[in-house]
Amino acid sequence: MTKCPLCGGSLDWAGLIEQMLVLENANEIFQDREKFMKTFEGFVFKCPHCGEEFYGRNLPAKEAEKVFELLNEFKGSIDWENRKVRLRLNSLLALDTMLENWDKKVKG
Ligand SMILES: [Zn+2]
Repeated sequence: MTKCPLCGGSLDWAGLIEQMLVLENANEIFQDREKFMKTFEGFVFKCPHCGEEFYGRNLPAKEAEKVFELLNEFKGSIDWENRKVRLRLNSLLALDTMLENWDKKVKG
């Protein structure tokens, strides 16, 4: 679960990504991993809880990469017309982490 680096409030990845969707070249960014990560790290996000701003580099890069993968894995994950994320990213990330831990346990 990702938290605001300033107030500790939990952040919704879909909400964060939607803040990035207003970028003019968002369509391009969301197809290119390197471009996405670079843009993400330098992007100024606004926390919906405390209203403070922080850079994407203050959030876990590993989760951001997963988010990028998920968005590219599922067709129609982004509603470009309304600039909305259709995926429930937080649930998918939680599931992913769970499976990873389970995998580690099994392989020991
Ligand atoms: Zn906050």
